[in-house]
Amino acid sequence: MAKEFETKVLHGDKIGREIASKVTPIYQTSAFTFKDLDELEGFYEGSGRYLYSRVGNPNTDELGAAVARLEGAPAGVAASSGLSAILAGVLAAVKSGGHIIAADDVYGGSYHMLKEELKDFGIETTFVSFTDLSNVEKEVRENTRLIYTETITNPLLRVEELGSVISFAKKKGLITLVDNTFATPLHVRPYELGADLVVHSATKYIGGHSDVTSGVVVGREDLIAKASGKITNLGANLSPFEAWLTTRGLKTLALRMKAQSSNARLLALALKENPDVKRVYYPFGYGEDGYGAIVTIELSEKADMNGFFRAFSWIKIAPTLAGVETTVSHPEVTSHRALSPEARAALGINRQVVRISVGIEHVNDIISQFETAIKESLQG
Ligand code: PLP
Repeated sequence: MAKEFETKVLHGDKIGREIASKVTPIYQTSAFTFKDLDELEGFYEGSGRYLYSRVGNPNTDELGAAVARLEGAPAGVAASSGLSAILAGVLAAVKSGGHIIAADDVYGGSYHMLKEELKDFGIETTFVSFTDLSNVEKEVRENTRLIYTETITNPLLRVEELGSVISFAKKKGLITLVDNTFATPLHVRPYELGADLVVHSATKYIGGHSDVTSGVVVGREDLIAKASGKITNLGANLSPFEAWLTTRGLKTLALRMKAQSSNARLLALALKENPDVKRVYYPFGYGEDGYGAIVTIELSEKADMNGFFRAFSWIKIAPTLAGVETTVSHPEVTSHRALSPEARAALGINRQVVRISVGIEHVNDIISQFETAIKESLQG
C-alpha cells in the first residue's frame, strides 16, 4: 500500500472484473495493464485480448459484433464515424491504382470522399446510374476492384436492386460494399444476399438518439481483419464511451425502426393527397409496415421555403437523420451541397426538396405539423 498522498490519490484496489454487471461497463481507458511480461507476451500471441484502446477495446468490439450479428455477417468492427467505416471498408478492398464503380446517387459525403480524397491516394472512382446495370458493365476496367452502393439512397429513396448488383459483381470477380444506413438490418441484410462488406453510419439508426457519431463495417472475415487494421493504423477508432452509447441505442433498433417506418409510410400517404406537394418519394412497394423512415417531398414552386421551415413548432431543421424525434433537412444546402448544381439537378434535388426523418411521435401530430407548414408556406 502506498504511503504518500500523491501516490495514494492514484493507486488503490480496483473494483473488479469478477463483478457481473448486467450491462457491459464503459472501459474508458486508453490502455490495459499487465502483471508481468508473460501476460504482455500473451497479448501478442493471441491469449490476451486488449493492449491499447486504439487497437481494440471491449466496448468497440461489442458494437462491431452486435451489428455483425444483426447483419448475419461473421465479423464487424466499429469506427469513429460512418465515413471512417466506409474508408476502412474501401481500403480493405482497394489499393492505390485500383478503381471503384459507385452509384451516382450515394450520400454526398461518401461521394466527396470517393471522388476527391481517395483520388489523391491513387484510387479512382467512376460514378454511374445503377438503375441499368449495362451502365455499370461499360465502366468495368482491368483494375476495377469494388462496386459501391446504398440500400436506399439519400434523399430520393431509390431502393437498390441488390440481388442483381451483387450477382453482377460476383460474375466479374468484384467486391461489393453496401451502405445499409437507411434500411438497417431490420429491413434488409445485404451480407446475407451475398455482399462482401456492409457499412453503417451508426450515427443514424444503429445509435438512434442523435447523441453520437460512429460507424461500423461488417462482412467477410478476411476483409474485416484488413478494415480493422486500417482503423487502428489510420487512427479512425471509436471512443469507448461512444461505442457504449451506440450499443445502448442499438438495443431498441427493432422497436424504433418499426414505429418510424410505419409513421413514415402513413405520413407519405397523407402528403401524397396534398395538392401543394408536387412529389413524394417513399418506397411504397414493400408492404404496409413501411420500408425505412425517410420521406422526401418536393413542394410546389409557389411554396416559400423559409416560410415552410419557420412554421414548424416542435419539428426542427437538423442536418442529420434517424433520431427518435422527427426532423427536417434541406439537401440542397446541406447533404448535397458538395455536388455541382448540374449534378444536383440531374438527381432531382432543388430548393423545393425537403427530406423528412420521421420519428416515433404520434403520427397524427406529425401529419398535422406538415399540413400547417405547407399551408403557411403559401401565405407569403
Ligand atoms: N452513409 C450515409 C447513407 C449517410 O447518410 C451518412 C451521413 O449522413 C454517412 C454515410 C456518413 O456518416 P457519418 O456522418 O457518421 O460519418
